[in-house]
Amino acid sequence: MVGGMATDEDRERLAGQLVALPVRELVDVLRRALPHFTEEAYGMRTALTLASVTYYEDEVEPGLNVELVAWPDRDYYDGDLGMNQGLWENGHCARCDIEVVSNAKRAFCPYCGSACGLT
Ligand SMILES: [Zn+2]
Repeated sequence: MVGGMATDEDRERLAGQLVALPVRELVDVLRRALPHFTEEAYGMRTALTLASVTYYEDEVEPGLNVELVAWPDRDYYDGDLGMNQGLWENGHCARCDIEVVSNAKRAFCPYCGSACGLT
């Protein structure tokens, strides 16, 4: 597909392959793809990341809670992707001051690359 446009059928087939993956494998595929879409201009860096978005019907402060999906620390897991579970580990990137989620307890912020401890 390099240098050309994928057909609608190509994209549908690719989407079908992604949907069949457990979430930690989907995240790993996106970790390899999304950073290629990072843009830097006028001293600002804009990164395309995956986010988990939840609407809370809180009476005091209702609204969307956006958490970035952190990339598992593959070195820590000996090349593996961490626990095969949903994005149930929660953490915080101190550098970006943003909440992150992951299937793994050791993961990297998708924006700045900082190590995040999740629980
Ligand atoms: Zn960060």
